[in-house]
Amino acid sequence: MQDSKELQAKKYEILKTVYGYDAFREGQEELIDCLLSGQDVCGIMPTGAGKSICYQIPALLLPSVTLVISPLISLMKDQVRALNQMGIHAAYLNSSLTYAQYRKALAYAGEGRYKIIYVAPERLLTEDFLAFAVNASISLIAVDEAHCVSQWGQDFRPSYLKIPDFVQALPRRPVMAAFTATATREVKEDIVRMLRLSSPHMTVTGFDRKNLYFEVRHDRDKYKGISEYLRSHPNDSGIIYCATRKTVEEVCDRLLADGFAATRYHAGLSDAERRANQEAFTYDTAPVMVATNAFGMGIDKSNVRFVLHYNMPKNMESYYQEAGRAGRDGAKADCILFYSGQDVVTNQFFIEADRENGELDEATLELVRARDRERLKKMTFYCHTADCLRDYMLRYFGEYGSNYCGACSNCLHSFETVDITQIARAMLGCAVTSGMRYGVNVLLDTLRGSKNEKILRLGMDRNPYYGSQETQSVVFLRQVLNQLVLQEYLTVTDDRYPIVRVTQKGWEFYEPADGFSPVLTMKAAKKREPAAAAQGSADGRGRRRTASRSGQDQAPSSPFEALRRLRTQIAREQHIPPYLVFSDKTLEAMCVMLPQTKEEMLDVHGVGELKYQKYGEPFLALCKELAGEDDLS
Ligand code: ADP
Ligand code: ZN
Repeated sequence: MQDSKELQAKKYEILKTVYGYDAFREGQEELIDCLLSGQDVCGIMPTGAGKSICYQIPALLLPSVTLVISPLISLMKDQVRALNQMGIHAAYLNSSLTYAQYRKALAYAGEGRYKIIYVAPERLLTEDFLAFAVNASISLIAVDEAHCVSQWGQDFRPSYLKIPDFVQALPRRPVMAAFTATATREVKEDIVRMLRLSSPHMTVTGFDRKNLYFEVRHDRDKYKGISEYLRSHPNDSGIIYCATRKTVEEVCDRLLADGFAATRYHAGLSDAERRANQEAFTYDTAPVMVATNAFGMGIDKSNVRFVLHYNMPKNMESYYQEAGRAGRDGAKADCILFYSGQDVVTNQFFIEADRENGELDEATLELVRARDRERLKKMTFYCHTADCLRDYMLRYFGEYGSNYCGACSNCLHSFETVDITQIARAMLGCAVTSGMRYGVNVLLDTLRGSKNEKILRLGMDRNPYYGSQETQSVVFLRQVLNQLVLQEYLTVTDDRYPIVRVTQKGWEFYEPADGFSPVLTMKAAKKREPAAAAQGSADGRGRRRTASRSGQDQAPSSPFEALRRLRTQIAREQHIPPYLVFSDKTLEAMCVMLPQTKEEMLDVHGVGELKYQKYGEPFLALCKELAGEDDLS
């Protein structure tokens, strides 16, 4: 048997010849080395970080077969297809196969024909599968989406609890690898304990996805904002997430009526339609997918160039996961959230109405709800913060970014610093003098001098701060209030009807010991001149173009488009999704390098020996042609 050092040296060769990549990404190498030397691992890496390579490369180097346990049928299919494309023998065993197909695959597996087998967790302890597994020699078991073993997670799957029993039934325990994108402490501990990993090497890689551009928009007319975005990114593929099935249908219908190649996905559609629509999206025949959050788990499409949120999701975890489906190929991509206050109300409703988990008693349910309300609040703050969006997100996940990323709407749009001392005093004062009994709306209505029924009924029209901020817009007052909460001068309680309270820090500001309040400032978006507002959108778009990714506004005649067209043509001929031919990032690299020889082509990111044999020549020919055109001009 080869020793692990020799195997470890070979991993570079495989990375280059099979995958066509030059370097490992953060975390990959150490995980691979550990597995090759026989140590269990647990890899916590965000979506798109490249977890698959961490078990696929060891699978290719270890002597016998690797089992990959995965809960997601569509993901298995995709991965197996991608592996077969690269010349690796792989198969999947799940409920999408007929019994005959399943028997056949299992028989082939028994003959040792596959290097990698993807299997659904429910299959593990079935008689057929166990018979195969006990007789086969298994080198490695990789558990994908390992957080499904944890009751803490949102995706708990009881069948994951059977994994240790399965492992125990094997004559020899293979080395084990667990992967997930969920990083909270409870989930991490559960994975190690429940899967019985033995002193695993833990790798946690950063959550920062540098190629993603983040933006929050407060458009009055969201549909208009979205359709304008699509119009200015005509050749790109992406996802539009909506909160409800109804909204999915409405948005999709309007987009279709407006001539966009959109399709839709939600849990209310028939299996057949869902499958067909997903296929259309994957193959770029309908490059725009309008969907609820039912869409995406296991979507492995790498050339998703944008993820737009028509509604705000219920928490940052969901947002990060959904937005993270953009730009998995590492090329630039946009994540834009279209916010409106109604989204908060909708989510609150979902939280209160959630009776899904029938196994929980009322006390536990209330705890869960309290946690959900807290998470929703943090999500809402994301939409209002004037700080760097990336920084906010990283802080939420327990990392520290710099205060300025330069690639989010807050960092890029010009912000100005405004003095909010007076408004803050009025806000705190209003809360204090009304006995800290009311919520955000009552406070803001009072400050604005509203005459609505509730304000009059509560007698807030006699509050000393009534009407003191009548010249300010509600939106701005809300921003200031959010700012005061973010900076911990105010806190909003977790009650069913949240109440605004003044914190210790708030009191010290409101009634300073030395009689002088410090000056409070906040970064706020510069107010546009009314005249400039008309051309504001053009201006905004221009800025966004430089702000967001490069190469997105290619004229149809650009080299990138020519390469993309060739890719589409080949993909259609071979009935495979375009990104399986080459990723967007690979095409971009080709564009820059315009390789003229086979060797140069093999130097392009994402072009391995096998891919070259399959598709190299037509692309090389096209690159030569494109280089020729360059010379002429
Ligand atoms: P995850 O499972 O972590 O969400 P994947 O394994 O699907 O991510 O990888 C995401 C994308 O990154 C894939 O297109 C993959 O080929 C690519 N990738 C993975 N590792 C590398 C690498 N070392 N260099 C370049 N691209 C990589
Ligand atoms: Zn930023």
